[in-house]
Amino acid sequence: RPTIGVLALQGDVAEHMRVLEELEVRTAEVVSPGHLDAVDALVIPGGESTAMSRIAVRQGLLEPLRERVRAGMPAYGTCAGMVMLADRILGGADGQRTVGGIDMTVRRNAFGRQSASFEAAVPIDGLEGGAFDALFIRAPWVEEVGPGVSVLGRVPGGDGAGRIVAVRQGGLMATSFHPELTGDARIHRLFVDIVKGLPWPATPSGPPPSTR
Ligand code: GLN
Repeated sequence: RPTIGVLALQGDVAEHMRVLEELEVRTAEVVSPGHLDAVDALVIPGGESTAMSRIAVRQGLLEPLRERVRAGMPAYGTCAGMVMLADRILGGADGQRTVGGIDMTVRRNAFGRQSASFEAAVPIDGLEGGAFDALFIRAPWVEEVGPGVSVLGRVPGGDGAGRIVAVRQGGLMATSFHPELTGDARIHRLFVDIVKGLPWPATPSGPPPSTR
């Protein structure tokens, strides 16, 4: 059984722990570089990416995180966690740093005022059992992705229709929305499958579309 850590600097840590504990993996909170050494994979929760980035620097965790991700540790980021896994961000605070790893540009707080918080049924590539009821809270979207990134889901309609909100690049996965808050463990299970090295049938073999 792999150990999946949850980056526990800030944000909805307990909610991710709860979902992972249902999925027959060991879990651990990651607050220090020593904790990071002890996990096989990492979930980066939703919250506030500016605060998370500042605390990571203060804890001496940012560089170790960057190194682990570069060395191939699987990671899954939700919302602020998606921002943290982006190689490039738009609308970041002054000096805001990210872990990076996914060749994409993410726009923070991308959805308009009225839809600062909303739900939408998002079809996700590789997910059995129908569209995912996705909860967006001051969510980012993915503005563009590089050739190695698979687009897994887009906003179906309404504000931001067609925008990319779920991606995968190798062992790295990110969603704009919060599966940890809605009681549906299917996306976490996809991540656990990635961590266990199980094949994911729907992973597209051709190059993904580069933008919306
Ligand atoms: N707007 C937040 C940020 O950019 C993310 C919000 C969230 O995680 N729910 O950090």
